[in-house]
Amino acid sequence: MTGRLRHYTCGSTSHDVGAMFRGGARGVREFPSGVFLYDAADGRRVLFDTGYATGPWHTGWRGAVYRLLLPPVIRGSDDVAARLRADGVDPASVTHVVLSHLHPDHVGGVRRFPHATFVLSAGHERTLAAPRLRAGVLTGLLPTWFPDAERIVIGEEAFSTVELGGIVLRAHDLLGDSSYLVLDLPGHADGHLGALIERRVLLAGDAAWGNDLIHVSGNLKALPRAVQHDADRYAATARSLGVLAAAGIRVVCSHDPLDAKELLS
Ligand SMILES: [Zn+2]
Repeated sequence: MTGRLRHYTCGSTSHDVGAMFRGGARGVREFPSGVFLYDAADGRRVLFDTGYATGPWHTGWRGAVYRLLLPPVIRGSDDVAARLRADGVDPASVTHVVLSHLHPDHVGGVRRFPHATFVLSAGHERTLAAPRLRAGVLTGLLPTWFPDAERIVIGEEAFSTVELGGIVLRAHDLLGDSSYLVLDLPGHADGHLGALIERRVLLAGDAAWGNDLIHVSGNLKALPRAVQHDADRYAATARSLGVLAAAGIRVVCSHDPLDAKELLS
């Protein structure tokens, strides 16, 4: 497998880490919103998440509350389409868009990919069918054409088990050659997904807030614990990520600050 995996930052937010974890690190820290583009050897292009939406959000009072609680910093150049073009990638050449989950910092750029096939979980479909405030989904960020977009919904039956680093993962072979395994990483949101690229790099989405915060993910304080879809499964998923990282898999969380753009080289 000789694909290419690139990372882009599409906006950021800041949190006081001390308010998130018991007995963990302290201080306000910036959390960039990562977007990851995989160029498969056969020309297919798979994007993992789409970052924040630039420009005004037409998301009503829910959006106003969200922006108050988690103030984003978003410049025009943070738009995922602008990031791709600046790197010589035509957004129209993206064949698949995998969404880890449906929070605003992951779906803001969906509108830039009207011709892509979207890869969703059954949990995502459940959330879209009945979006509740607690699920943190601002449906106004999704384009009107989204319900009619091409999509692959990975149901329970579409996952098979894969053993990696002593851990059994549930995976869906997206491209049919094992290069891109969409992973069931439950807990943060209903049907939260990750991806294992060429069995070397694991895109963890928001299964942990950062690679260096995996080990404290079981120590969430009350509020961040309350906004997890299933806090116990979140902690269990983070424990698995810790084992995989110790086994030499490169675990990359969506909000990790990364210096390198190329993740497979
Ligand atoms: Zn996020």
